[in-house]
Amino acid sequence: METKLLFPSPEALQLASDLLRSGQLVAFPTETVYGLGADALTPEAVAKIFAAKGRPADNPLIMHIWSVDQLEGLCRIPPLAEKLMAAFWPGPLTLLMPRTDRVPDMVTAGLPTVAVRMPSHPVAQALLRKAGVPIAAPSANRSGKPSPTTAAHVLSDMDGRIPLILDGGACDVGLESTVLDTCHGTPCVLRPGGITREMLETVLGTEVSVAGSILQPLKPGEQALSPGMRYRHYAPEGQVTLVTGEEKEVLDALRLLFHTSETAGRRSCVLCFHEHLEALEGCNPHDLGLRSQPETVAQRLFDTLRRLDQEGFEAIFSEVLPPEGMGLAIMNRLGRAASFRSVAARDALSAPG
Ligand code: AMP
Ligand code: MG
Repeated sequence: METKLLFPSPEALQLASDLLRSGQLVAFPTETVYGLGADALTPEAVAKIFAAKGRPADNPLIMHIWSVDQLEGLCRIPPLAEKLMAAFWPGPLTLLMPRTDRVPDMVTAGLPTVAVRMPSHPVAQALLRKAGVPIAAPSANRSGKPSPTTAAHVLSDMDGRIPLILDGGACDVGLESTVLDTCHGTPCVLRPGGITREMLETVLGTEVSVAGSILQPLKPGEQALSPGMRYRHYAPEGQVTLVTGEEKEVLDALRLLFHTSETAGRRSCVLCFHEHLEALEGCNPHDLGLRSQPETVAQRLFDTLRRLDQEGFEAIFSEVLPPEGMGLAIMNRLGRAASFRSVAARDALSAPG
């Protein structure tokens, strides 16, 4: 199949909407990452998403809408969700809602809840409005690859597999939406994203919990609250190691780890904050973005991970952020890229030889 890559002109939006309404797939930009959309109420269309991505069937999809009226007959809106919708929609917040039988099992992987989001990106909004049906859309990457934040990323994963990609430039947030469960007691962040735990707590005036699997691997036998958290994700081919500790020690440890690894014959690099590029000269430094502005780290993280693969690094040593605010979402993605492998700078510096 030929994959068209088009800027979102009125004609391209019409074509995209026609494709969606006839059960085909369209990749489109959102403020988080690029989505791969299909008519959420047509199981045969939704099935094509799983085939194109190589996605396991038990990993449910997010249903995208442009108007809350579209939820009529599909799900019940819990009171806490209502409050959050007023504060954060349209935007990067996905809410779980108890659903009716009209939502196909294929969308929810048979779960009793459906994940719903209203994106703020103008191209996503225009497309959703034109198509007129709720659109099921996961990230538009092949399963196991970093989510796409540019149309070029989508093309590199989906060329020949889907008929159309709408090119709306680079995504603003750069990480997937926050997934929040408000259906079971204390609201719980299942996946951290652009709407932070702190922002949710401010609006709700209550505590919001965070799923345990966000900053550590699932324990043997532990159930993932969000099925997507079960899967290996965002992992480059090379081995990523997170280096933790106080700033000066981390920089010293990164230099030591890099040189030891290179000496052992492994093609190596460091991932560091923009502020530390000079201090790490000679260690193949790759820019994570500004430590003082974590939003810039989120924006470029997936692009950076894709580049590491293209450049064929075998060993990657990375700085970390405190897991607060946007730092929680960043450390969740970086942690998973590293399979949560980390070393304390102090230990690295005191290790013999
Ligand atoms: P993606 O489409 O790649 O952004 O992934 C959607 C994420 O939302 C995955 O991590 C899913 O596991 C999660 N998700 C979707 N629906 C549900 C649901 N009903 N319950 C829990 N998690 C969900
Ligand atoms: Mg995804």
